[in-house]
Amino acid sequence: MFTSIAGRNAVVTGATKGIGKGIALVLARAGANVMITGRNADDAARTVAELQAEGDGQITSFLGNVASPADCAAMAQAAVDAFGGIDIVCANAGIFPDAKLADMTEADLDLVFDTNVKGTMLTVQACLPHLKASGRGRVIVTSSITGPVTGYPGWSHYGASKAAQLGFMRTAAIELAPHGITVNAVLPGNIATEGLADLGAEYRASMEASIPQGRLGDVTDIGNAALFFATDEAAYVTGQALVVDGGQILPESLEALQAARD
Ligand code: NAP
Repeated sequence: MFTSIAGRNAVVTGATKGIGKGIALVLARAGANVMITGRNADDAARTVAELQAEGDGQITSFLGNVASPADCAAMAQAAVDAFGGIDIVCANAGIFPDAKLADMTEADLDLVFDTNVKGTMLTVQACLPHLKASGRGRVIVTSSITGPVTGYPGWSHYGASKAAQLGFMRTAAIELAPHGITVNAVLPGNIATEGLADLGAEYRASMEASIPQGRLGDVTDIGNAALFFATDEAAYVTGQALVVDGGQILPESLEALQAARD
């Protein structure tokens, strides 16, 4: 058994729905106090109510944009006001609008990088004094297989932003190691979320057919990986990227995938 994280204080960005909600759920079930963030007040209220039924820890929410330094500062302060400190930060908020390179506007690029890259860095920066004070701080970034490992037409800006998160992670891991803070990333494959549902049934079916385990991931599959990075037992793991994708990146060809099913 791992040492309990009950009573630890966690902030999970982009947790009003989707993967962030799954991470928050797993942390809440483990007894952590969890602050979820996002921008949609109705989704936040619904998720807080659901999480409150799951664990003994306190659950609260903060509404703000991760791309705003002022919002991130207020978010960190709200967590400290609610819980007294911050031990775990899950920088998960992210967007994946598609645009082919030939059509991509500067506004498309800015939105994806502001949210996914700047948002990750501002989140961690705002929480840093409190992670240092914790003495066992944990940063867990939600990256993706898309960019760091694979490519997909329409997502060159998204893939670049997800790879950039890993560049951030590696240097942050070195800078923060003297403070007992670890910085790691989970790289989800295709996970059943509200955001992924927006991509349509055809996309979902083609992804299911590409995954050796034959199913999309559940948000708690990513939550469980995040929980591992949050434990005391993961204290010596830092700067690492863990792929959680049901084997999606493994087959060398469609034949390799099919041969296992024959
Ligand atoms: P989702 O269902 O669309 O949920 C996205 C979450 O992020 C929502 O809670 C949303 O909150 C929040 N968010 C978006 N922009 C924000 C902003 N500017 N400021 C604050 N919060 C913001 O997406 P998801 O599928 O769970 O994806 C979550 C993360 O996982 C992303 O980083 C994504 O790149 C990564 N990922 C997902 C998959 C997948 O298959 N689903 C695969 C690989 C990686 P509001 O709506 O309340 O603003």
